[in-house]
Amino acid sequence: MKGILALLALVAAVTSMENFSGQQVLRILPANDEQVNIVRELENYEDLQLDFWQEPSVPERFIDIRVPFFSLQDVKVYLEFHNIQYSIMIPDLQTLLDEEKRDMKMGRAMENARSTDTFNYATYHTFDEINNFIDTLVAENPGFVSKIEIGKSYQNRPLNVLKFSTGANRPAFWIDTGIHSREWVTQASGLWFAKKIVNDFGRDQSLTATLNRMDILLEIVTNPDGYVYSHTTNRMWRKTRSPNSGSTCIGTDPNRNWDAGFGGGGSSSNPCTETYRGPSANSEPEVKSIVNYVKSHGNIKGFISIHSYSQMLLYPYGYTTARTPDNAELDSVAKVAVDALTSLYGTQYTYGSIISTIYQASGGTIDWTYNQGIKYSYSFELRDTGRYGFALPANQIIPTSEETWLGLTKIIEHTRDNL
Ligand SMILES: [Zn+2]
Repeated sequence: MKGILALLALVAAVTSMENFSGQQVLRILPANDEQVNIVRELENYEDLQLDFWQEPSVPERFIDIRVPFFSLQDVKVYLEFHNIQYSIMIPDLQTLLDEEKRDMKMGRAMENARSTDTFNYATYHTFDEINNFIDTLVAENPGFVSKIEIGKSYQNRPLNVLKFSTGANRPAFWIDTGIHSREWVTQASGLWFAKKIVNDFGRDQSLTATLNRMDILLEIVTNPDGYVYSHTTNRMWRKTRSPNSGSTCIGTDPNRNWDAGFGGGGSSSNPCTETYRGPSANSEPEVKSIVNYVKSHGNIKGFISIHSYSQMLLYPYGYTTARTPDNAELDSVAKVAVDALTSLYGTQYTYGSIISTIYQASGGTIDWTYNQGIKYSYSFELRDTGRYGFALPANQIIPTSEETWLGLTKIIEHTRDNL
């Protein structure tokens, strides 16, 4: 009986996961402003249930849309009728996700998670596994690594930050991953960074010099409710999980919820969209907790928020075309960081301000941190450029982490040398 119940529970767990069979990701290349607007129009047809992986911006910049099976014909006819070029990037999303699931199962079988030495960095992990990792790393490195709970998510999960520190009252460098929950390669990279810092301290001269002068703060699961939901229910979940009054749609885009140009262009007032800004700035506890922590800390000198995908290194602003007073310096550091990143595997990155490199986005993390006086505020968009998008195979986790670390390190060093 017990066995049957367990089996039924397992079947229920499996079947409650959203299925993406037959769903495609289309890459659309609008030739002019009129075509950009025609594609943007699609956002108004909620019945199509489209998921914009890359939002419409300017002509010649691609737009990626995940299209449910039942809307495929309509969307393709619409694009063809308007003579808009498109290609099929992902012919069947569920096939990729099935492979991902198999990889996770295999990855877990090869792992002994009781030590961070035998932890499997080349596979994706659940929220609970990540929290166990954090506790293990802290236990293994007393006096060097500690865990700070900066708050709770909407569903009351802890917002854990790892602190790497060798002395009191130091300036700090902040890194966060996974504010958009479906960007799984970012949380996975965060785990790798944590272990890298521990491994390199006392061995790598530059990192040791850094940690003798400043702390590193690392929030790996910045949107825990979304992350859990992306494992249990909908792999493609991006937003938080807070309800919206007057709407059945759930969640706010936590990268449109900051108090920097809040409510401006490139953020939506419609709770059913992926870029919904929320009812007010800092409405999401996942954002508010960082805001409170940054303000109370008062001495954070660098801040990097990590996303995927599209292989970009970005600096402020996103909400305005105005350049920051530090534009030239931020740009030259970005170039150095990108060169270092590319040197390892040849991965090509573009860099620049958010608004000039991707599109206008208001209420974003690093615009707020920059306006708080954190000069070295950057955002990465990790691999890839769309072949797999958010379903990046696990065998790319380690190379992605390695190359990103080289870029990150350049920004951290520059911050350290300009304290
Ligand atoms: Zn993102």
